[in-house]
Amino acid sequence: MTKHIHHWIGGKTVEGASGNWSPVTDPATGAVTAEVALASTEEVGAAVAAAKEAFTTWGTSSLAQRTAILFRYRALLDARRDDIAALITAEHGKVHSDALGEVARGLEVVELACGITTQIKGELSTQVSNRIDVASIRQPLGVVAGITPFNFPAMVPMWMFPLAIACGNTFILKPSEKDPSSANLLAELASEAGLPDGVLNVVHGDKVAVDALLEHPDVSAVSFVGSTPIARYIHTTASANGKRVQALGGAKNHMLVLPDADLDAAADAAVSAAYGSAGERCMAISAVVALDSIADELVEKIRERAEKIKIGPGTDPTSEMGPLITKVHRDKVASYVTGAAAQGAEVVLDGTGFTVDGFEDGHWIGISLLDKVSTDSDAYRDEIFGPVLCVLRAETYEEGMALINASQYGNGTAVFTRDGGAARRFQLEVQAGMVGVNVPVPVPVGYHSFGGWKDSLFGDHHIYGNDGVHFYTRGKVVTTRWPDPADTPTGVDLGFPQ
Ligand code: NAD
Repeated sequence: MTKHIHHWIGGKTVEGASGNWSPVTDPATGAVTAEVALASTEEVGAAVAAAKEAFTTWGTSSLAQRTAILFRYRALLDARRDDIAALITAEHGKVHSDALGEVARGLEVVELACGITTQIKGELSTQVSNRIDVASIRQPLGVVAGITPFNFPAMVPMWMFPLAIACGNTFILKPSEKDPSSANLLAELASEAGLPDGVLNVVHGDKVAVDALLEHPDVSAVSFVGSTPIARYIHTTASANGKRVQALGGAKNHMLVLPDADLDAAADAAVSAAYGSAGERCMAISAVVALDSIADELVEKIRERAEKIKIGPGTDPTSEMGPLITKVHRDKVASYVTGAAAQGAEVVLDGTGFTVDGFEDGHWIGISLLDKVSTDSDAYRDEIFGPVLCVLRAETYEEGMALINASQYGNGTAVFTRDGGAARRFQLEVQAGMVGVNVPVPVPVGYHSFGGWKDSLFGDHHIYGNDGVHFYTRGKVVTTRWPDPADTPTGVDLGFPQ
């Protein structure tokens, strides 16, 4: 009997009723392990109705009540780290230690939400004019929706809903249909922590469910994380429907290596950042820009390290890298490697023929390293989202910087150097939202916000941190006069106060 994965609406499992299902696969074996329900417009409507009803009490609940639940939730998540990570590995394929890291980074945002009392404090100016005080406060939006990608099935949802509900909103999560199970566990644990029914709902689905959320008049705001074309669509459509929207898109993250860098440290960093999670990270380094004088030595150091990476099922504790999410994606990633030589690249490592004994039907691909890649090749221009690292060469710092800034994307970037002046110049000149100095994957901690520039983010709010609190609340300014009992009436005055 095929296992079915259902929705979580109003604090309980609600069976999918549309008759449409999508297969969920174990990427290590290629076997279909479950089918996930794809919600109809009506089922999404039921979730929105549950969230709207819950908002009537949750939106005015006390901060003490909300944070008590969030602290309990934090403890439950902490206790169930392994279970959440196991679900991620079973459906995404990443190795268990990496899945645990994903849960840890999501927990950071839950911890931030536990401290919402200080984040959401308003501002007060007293006696701005005679007997007049002005207060700025922030209030929740209502029902908000989150649409998330396959590559971080637990962390990216946790970038969104903990802060949204801490701010007093109710939430509908539409996770990726490729690895949906961890989202359900996150919602069940929130109920166990005491979150009232309907405050956090999970609706599974595809474009039909997404469009229903984008068009529903009772959805006030949409947070999206995924690929650039869909991010652009979400931003345009949700904005046209009058919703607040933040839509984080794809990336091509560059690492500039200057001649004075510690080349061993740079090679370690490039290999970890390019091939971790099989390159299926929006902050993966996918292009190393090496200055000519050190390029040959750096490529050799990267090659030596990359070819030692142990690839295998995510459940094997000795595996360092797992399979790709689907067979179709595996074949697409392989096509960039096979096409690279014809477009002028030197193929230093070719992972396209790789497989794992006993797991021949898994979505395997080995490590690929392409050198002397040109900026007009497909392997450079597209976000490959696999274990393929491109090396480009530049004569000078200025040429390297111009190359990075010409990219359509601006998510993360890094410079490797021992020269503080060069690093300072880099961080000011580079067009990207997150910059690492000798740090290859500069994902901001929970209390700073995450977001890119250019085609890596549509909308003006980054996600989590202060930007997250601002995104999930709207400002109100209250001007108050309490006359002193001794005051006499001022009379009518039609002019502006001078
Ligand atoms: P995706 O854009 O295919 O899917 C993301 C979500 O959108 C899923 O929930 C999916 O069901 C939905 N969706 C897909 N097609 C749709 C359509 N036509 N209409 C409406 N909804 C649709 O992305 P993915 O393949 O799941 O994830 C990988 C991508 O996400 C990569 O491009 C990666 O860089 C990006 N990503 C970005 C960040 C970031 O913070 N910028 C973080 C993680 C992943």
